[in-house]
Amino acid sequence: MYLTQGLHRAVQQHPDAIMTIYADRTRTFGEVADRVARLAGALRSLGVTAGDRVAMLSLNSDRYSEYLLAVPWADAVLNPVNIRWSPAEIIYSFVDSGTTVLFVDDAFAPMLPTIRQEYPGLIAVIHCGDGPTPDGTLSYEQLIADTAPIEDARRGGDALAGLFYTGGTTGFPKGVMLSHDNLFASALGSIASGYLFKPNGRYLHAAPMFHLADLAGWLAEVMLGGTHIIIAAFEPVATMKALATHQVTDVLLVPVMIQMLVDHPAATDYDLSGVERILYGASPIAQAVLERAMKLFPGAGLTQAYGMTEVAPVATLLGPAEHVAGLLRSAGRAAPHADLRIVDAEGIEVPRGTVGEIAVRGDHVMLGYWNKPEETAAAVRDGWMHTGDGGYMDDRGYVFVVDRIKDMIVSGGENVYSAEVENAVAAHPSVAACAVIGVPDPEWGERVHAVIVCLPDRTVTAAEIREHAKTLIAGYKAPRTIEIVDALPVSGAGKILKRELRKRYWGDSDRQVH
Ligand code: ATP
Ligand code: MG
Repeated sequence: MYLTQGLHRAVQQHPDAIMTIYADRTRTFGEVADRVARLAGALRSLGVTAGDRVAMLSLNSDRYSEYLLAVPWADAVLNPVNIRWSPAEIIYSFVDSGTTVLFVDDAFAPMLPTIRQEYPGLIAVIHCGDGPTPDGTLSYEQLIADTAPIEDARRGGDALAGLFYTGGTTGFPKGVMLSHDNLFASALGSIASGYLFKPNGRYLHAAPMFHLADLAGWLAEVMLGGTHIIIAAFEPVATMKALATHQVTDVLLVPVMIQMLVDHPAATDYDLSGVERILYGASPIAQAVLERAMKLFPGAGLTQAYGMTEVAPVATLLGPAEHVAGLLRSAGRAAPHADLRIVDAEGIEVPRGTVGEIAVRGDHVMLGYWNKPEETAAAVRDGWMHTGDGGYMDDRGYVFVVDRIKDMIVSGGENVYSAEVENAVAAHPSVAACAVIGVPDPEWGERVHAVIVCLPDRTVTAAEIREHAKTLIAGYKAPRTIEIVDALPVSGAGKILKRELRKRYWGDSDRQVH
């Protein structure tokens, strides 16, 4: 299969149906296919040849979707850029990937002089924003107007479809090489679960399109010929408005977004009853937030996905009917396309209920890390992707993710898994969000420390949190210290950056600890 396949099918079957809606622009499948064929022609004229990396640094837009189609159409390789990266990180990734063409919108055009100065490898920069075309860039619309359409390369299967950099949550991001078939294996398996994506879907892109979580939804909708409603970036009111006014049926939200929606004062002003399916995942969700989300979207089936860039990206799914007591803290069971087991350090499967490393095998496991053969060999052994995530499996195959192995806390010789503590803390009525980390402690080696965002007009003390947590979890797991902050530091994909939180305690003693 190849990424553009669904577009051809849609043009054959319903060319005049709406494919994309962005701001006041709507485009039909026929229009999009014509524009994509011309844009691919423009890439070819600029000198892009098979396998060249073409980057996109942009907020969400209908043009992001066209980029995702034009690059494979021209037989080139996608390289979507994390919009939270600093210029230094962007330059690092361009040097790493050897990107030759860059699409950039108005939000990121100001970074161009720095990028160009430090990275001379760009043969062309295409401006895909709606503002005036900056000096030294080509106009996206002009290129489409001036270039004749070309034939789709229609190359897929094992061919490299894109370089997708990992979230960079635990360190420097790695370029994950995914083939067309890797991406399809995950998308088809997710559809086969029966929980996600149906014909005639209307999918809202509220999460950033550079991230594979949203891109996986994009591919499923392209395959099914659905409509893409696109907003530039997640913002609670804009998201609720788009959900209500465009009769959105499907949306992907990461837990940080869900938390912002459920705590928003305007959450009840919009009719969200048309939303049929909500897919969430990409980081742990506190049970208390999940319960509030189920109340906010009473008509919607919620499905959790656990996965990672390296598995394109879905490994497990917790379907709507599985959102019941006892399972709300599970990430679900192996998705139809995934072979999954929990292993020890030697790669041997551990008994059910025992914490080990989650390992995944299937046609969705990446080709490898770009330019990193050693890291690839360490991660993928005998076809099994070793996720670096700790978890256990119950008797019915439900997987419970307990922590990233790198984040696990050892306090007084006992292992403490942050997910369990975070759930207990988040269940306190004054807590909106929290992250639990290990901080240095002379007596305990590491001490369990909670960084907390309170609900509006609420506050808590360390003693209250500790007492509350002890009603739910063992005393040694309850946070010994807490810190109240306005917001937690998050990555471009909306993940809490624990290494940022830890830095303060391991490197810098300025901050006040309660
Ligand atoms: P890096 O690998 O660069 O540190 P990252 O791991 O955050 O970044 P991604 O591939 O975007 O990059 O994220 C995958 C990780 O996200 C998983 O390994 C897991 O730790 C976490 N994750 C994803 N889904 C879930 C989920 N449903 N529950 C808990 N954790 C999840
Ligand atoms: Mg990772």
